[in-house]
Amino acid sequence: MTGLSDVMLDIRKRQHIKPYPPTEPVGFWTGEDLLDGKTVKSNTIIFRTKGCFWAQKGGCTMCGYTYDAATSPPTVDDILAQYRSVEDRIEGSVVKLFTSGSFFDKSEVPEKARDEILSSIGKKASKIIIETRPEFVTDKAMEAASKHGARIEVAIGLETSNDRIRNECINKNFLFEDFVRASETAKRHGVTTKAYLLLKPPFLTEKDAMEDIFRSVLDAAPYAGTISINLCNVQRGTIVDDLFKKNAYRPPWLWSIVEVIKRVHGKTNSMIMSDPLAAGQARGPHNCYECDYAFADAIRKYSTTQDIHVFDGLACDCRLLWEKTLALEGWTFGSPLVY
Ligand code: SF4
Ligand SMILES: [Zn+2]
Repeated sequence: MTGLSDVMLDIRKRQHIKPYPPTEPVGFWTGEDLLDGKTVKSNTIIFRTKGCFWAQKGGCTMCGYTYDAATSPPTVDDILAQYRSVEDRIEGSVVKLFTSGSFFDKSEVPEKARDEILSSIGKKASKIIIETRPEFVTDKAMEAASKHGARIEVAIGLETSNDRIRNECINKNFLFEDFVRASETAKRHGVTTKAYLLLKPPFLTEKDAMEDIFRSVLDAAPYAGTISINLCNVQRGTIVDDLFKKNAYRPPWLWSIVEVIKRVHGKTNSMIMSDPLAAGQARGPHNCYECDYAFADAIRKYSTTQDIHVFDGLACDCRLLWEKTLALEGWTFGSPLVY
C-alpha cells in the first residue's frame, strides 16, 4: 500500500533543487513579537542545514522547506559562518532560531555550533525561541540550552491536538503525548513551550479545519504559553501543491482565522498569535482578494497586542460566500466550492 510518505518521496524526487553554499543562511529578518505583554523587536535566523530528517523520509504533506537544505551537511565552521554573517544585525530582545527542521537535531546543528551560537545570543537578547520536533527536546539538550543567560522557548510544530489529523492528513509522525512529554521536559529546565498549529491541512473541509483548531488551542494551552496558528499556504513540491493544481485544495479563508481567534480569546492563559504568510495570494490564505490586506493587518495587530477589538468593523461582502462554504463544503467531500 502506498502511504503519504511514499507519495511525498515521489514528489520530492521530481523537484529541481537549487544548490546552495553551506555558509549562507536561508534567511534573516527583523520583525515584532510580544514579550511580557509588550511589543518588542524580534530577529529571525533560518540556518541552512542538511534539512529535516523527517522530510528526507517523505515528511509532512504541506512542507517545502526541505528544498532550502544544503546539498552536503554543513560543518560546525559552516554553521558558525552562517551565524557570523548576520550576528551584527541582531537588535532587540527576541531571537528566533529556525533550521527548516530541528535546531536541536545534532545531525543538523552540531552541539559545538549550537552552544557557541546560544552563548553569543544569550549576551545580546533576553529570549531565544528555538524550533524543533519534540523528539529532540531531551533533558541534556534543555540543560545545555538554558545556561546562556537568555530565556529559552522551544517552538514545536504540533499542528493539531488530533492524532488522526496530524498523522493521516499532515503525515507528521508523532503523537500529542510526544508533544506533552517534550513540554514537560522543557519545563523541568525552566524552558517554555510555543506550539504551532496548522489551520486547514489537506483533506479537511473549511468547517472541520476551524473546529480542529478551536479544539487544539484548548488542548495545547496547558502545555504552551504561546500558541501560533499558521495558516496553510501552498508550497511547491508538496501534496498540498499537487491538490491545489488539481483544484482540490484551497488555503483557508481569513474569515476563518478571525472567527477562531474570537472563539478562543479569553478562554486560555496562552498568548494566541498568527502571522498570515502569503495572505491575499491564491497560494496563501485569502478571502476575496479585496479585503485580504485589512484582514491580515488586523490579525498581525492582534498577535502583538492580544486586543480583540482590532477585529471590530472588519467587513466585506465576501462573508456570505465564506458562510456558504462552511455550510455546503461537506457535500463536496472537502473539494473547494470557491477559489
Ligand atoms: S513540517 Fe517540520 S517536521 Fe514536517 S517535514 Fe517540514 S520541517 Fe520536517
Ligand atoms: Zn472580501
